[in-house]
Amino acid sequence: MDYRVLLYYKYTTIDDPDTFAMEHLDFCKSLDLKGRILVSTEGINGTVSGTVEATDQYMEQLKSDARFADITFKIDKAEGHAFKKMHVRPRQEIVASGLDNDVDPTDETGKYLSPKEFKSALESEDTIVIDARNDYEYDLGHFRGAVRPDIRRFRDLPEWIKENKDQFMDKKIVTYCTGGIRCEKFSAFLLKEGFEDVSQLEGGIATYGKDPETQGDLWDGKMYVFDERISVDVNNVEKTVVGKDWFDGTPCERYINCSNPECNKQILSSEENEHRHLGACSYECAINERNRYIKKHDLSEAEIEQRLENFKTPINQ
Ligand SMILES: [Zn+2]
Repeated sequence: MDYRVLLYYKYTTIDDPDTFAMEHLDFCKSLDLKGRILVSTEGINGTVSGTVEATDQYMEQLKSDARFADITFKIDKAEGHAFKKMHVRPRQEIVASGLDNDVDPTDETGKYLSPKEFKSALESEDTIVIDARNDYEYDLGHFRGAVRPDIRRFRDLPEWIKENKDQFMDKKIVTYCTGGIRCEKFSAFLLKEGFEDVSQLEGGIATYGKDPETQGDLWDGKMYVFDERISVDVNNVEKTVVGKDWFDGTPCERYINCSNPECNKQILSSEENEHRHLGACSYECAINERNRYIKKHDLSEAEIEQRLENFKTPINQ
């Protein structure tokens, strides 16, 4: 059967997110959708998978609600579900920015650029393009020449900007993220911080990759996605690999989580290097008593000792 993955958001007022979440969960379950949806007084942010028929019904129903009439869905074809369960959760924000309530993208936000306009901005010398995603997302793939903020979570981005704003203050700024939702707040925040010329890629990377004119050109590597697919292609003009194996620096697009549950860091690693390093990002994580890899693989003491030796070769990223 043919499946789809939908990615969407809408900043709009939802008066009672708790009740909305409960009713919406029932509705999603009735269609046998799976995925993750966040709702808040500021709107909805979701990604769900389901059959073509079910996703059609879902989109139609959501658009029939005046609050979501002009919502945009990014649609990917899929072989099956991209999630195991269905969650609809009420939250403080639909994307955790940690910003005060005074950053309201329905009030003021960066100018929207079409994929074609964004591509011109990428090629322009006097424009700074800032990736609004996390470091591990950037490392798997990004727009050529984009700035990589050193952050593991979106809510650390405002602080990173405050520390680095001197580099960008008098420049034209363009931001992008996966589906556009993070940029709505991030560009609003940049305007509040005093940046004068701020734009954002409308519909995000997901839209840019499907645009018939740009076809994902000038994107390098793959796009990280927050579901079981982990990554998807963007560039249909020219494919490149920018991801690098955590351990030996060779080209790699395979993500694992560090086997130490207290660390859980996402790193790119070949299967071979995962086994050689007990699934861990560092020696300290490898010897952690809760190491999931060791628990799972039932290794002898001697075998563990031998593999720990592999950390003596410096990790070359
Ligand atoms: Zn680790």
